[in-house]
Amino acid sequence: MESCTFHPDHVAIEHCEVCHRPLCDLCLWYADDGRRLCASHARAYASTGGEVHPPETYDEALQPREITDPTLPPPRDQAPYRGNSTDLYAALAVVIGATSLASCMGFAYCLPVLSGILGLVAVMNAKNALDPQRTRTFGAIGIGIGLLALIPILLFFSYFFIMVLFFIYSAATGNLGP
Ligand SMILES: [Zn+2]
Ligand SMILES: [Zn+2]
Repeated sequence: MESCTFHPDHVAIEHCEVCHRPLCDLCLWYADDGRRLCASHARAYASTGGEVHPPETYDEALQPREITDPTLPPPRDQAPYRGNSTDLYAALAVVIGATSLASCMGFAYCLPVLSGILGLVAVMNAKNALDPQRTRTFGAIGIGIGLLALIPILLFFSYFFIMVLFFIYSAATGNLGP
């Protein structure tokens, strides 16, 4: 299978109709005359007065936006939130982590662990996300919250463990206090 000129780990779905470079779905621009173009040829077409649609927005009637450096992956919408399911893991990790930090008792202690696991899943799958950088950041936050919440749990269990050892030791030596 052919890979994208700009993303070696993405499968190319089309070729630029001007330069014939293979392009993945993140790099494929649509011109209003129906042609599929790479970012630099989309820019060239736009500079002649043509209208171009950036990747993944061509079917949503969004306004074409300014085209930036063609050697970089095309820019994305800042808002509203756009993403795929891997992004969702990361966002969910943050939401759950934040929620469980806000509450601090009872079963809520399970949630930061879940947040850490989801964050880990998100980071591991980040290269499949629409915005790997954002997904890694969110995932890392999720893991961070998860680890943070684990500290009191680990402290509690190590305290418990030490107390048990202490009593076993005391019982064994017959010095169970006054
Ligand atoms: Zn081209
Ligand atoms: Zn690409």
